[in-house]
Amino acid sequence: MPLTAYSTSQRAELDVEQTLKRLAAEFGQPYTSVDAIPEAWRAYLRTDLQCPSCFVNGAEIVRSATKTGKASRQSFFRFTTPGHRPHCDFGSPETANTVPENLVLLTESKSNLTRAVRELVCTGIEQGVFSQVSIRDMREWFFNKKVASLFAVTLDSRLFTWISALQENMFRSSGALPGGVALTPEIAALPQFDWRAEAARRVMERYPQHEANMQAIMDRRIAMFGDSGKRAQSLSQRFNGRSVFDPAVLVNEYGKTRSLAEFIGHNYAPLKAAKGGAGTASVLALSALLLFVRGWDVSLAISDFVKIAAAVGGANKNLGNVMGLNPFHDYEAWEILKRMQDLKIAVPDNIDIQAERAAIEAELRQQFSARPMAV
Ligand SMILES: [Zn+2]
Repeated sequence: MPLTAYSTSQRAELDVEQTLKRLAAEFGQPYTSVDAIPEAWRAYLRTDLQCPSCFVNGAEIVRSATKTGKASRQSFFRFTTPGHRPHCDFGSPETANTVPENLVLLTESKSNLTRAVRELVCTGIEQGVFSQVSIRDMREWFFNKKVASLFAVTLDSRLFTWISALQENMFRSSGALPGGVALTPEIAALPQFDWRAEAARRVMERYPQHEANMQAIMDRRIAMFGDSGKRAQSLSQRFNGRSVFDPAVLVNEYGKTRSLAEFIGHNYAPLKAAKGGAGTASVLALSALLLFVRGWDVSLAISDFVKIAAAVGGANKNLGNVMGLNPFHDYEAWEILKRMQDLKIAVPDNIDIQAERAAIEAELRQQFSARPMAV
């Protein structure tokens, strides 16, 4: 459930405390606690506030309960009537009380990097380069892009493990008999005959499509073996059968955001000095925002950035009380997932290649009365 909501009358993103303070001033009536909010205020908030992800109305203020049922100090907004739109970041029980992974809370400034980005955001707002309205509009733009480009995750997450095991097995087959040469008792009698390599070669024969699959993966430059590949595997497991955002529709925007983030991370001292740099969510969120307000024109975005950087210092910190959007959270992993899924590779029931190889090796050794394999 969101900790902040967008006020259409204030054209700003507010948390519960800020919202109630404003209403107290407006209605000329103090408030004592979240439990004693006048009905008139509640009615007003139901039409004024929007969900920060899907922009429905119907906000209610609730006090979050701790696990023991005790009321805690943190309050948040709930949107039950008419309720979130499908695919809202706050729509699932999974996201209750959490900040969705693609939203960047700039109010939390524990790290030097986030503080530096917050400073840039506040200055950018003060300079009129962007506003809380443009930040809100960017989220709406992203939400609409997302719901217009959904695809269902059908990828079998075991595909990653299976292909890696086959690759490993292929390396183990080096030094085996060339294809088409029969294994004879004389060959098997070679004291150094490599049974494991021969077994590995026979495993490869069972999966003749592997070479074509690997070729397709390489031709499309799908980086399935790195960290993003691991993340893609876990996403395919977690989101199996669910509809998710297709990253392909933002491929141009992603490329531009990355290069702007790299430029900023490299050429702005406070970010260069901080850990993380260009790949960090807050830097990506700022870069995407600079581009969004300029229709994704990189030159204009860079001149805006230079203008902001020159004016940094002394901006009102409260201006940065916003939830930025990093539309490219896990972008590479989602891209790998989608592209692997598009290859439509069928995964067999048994993907334990190591066990398969060991079974073949044991069988061969028995057939040629060789000594059993070393354990
Ligand atoms: Zn929503």
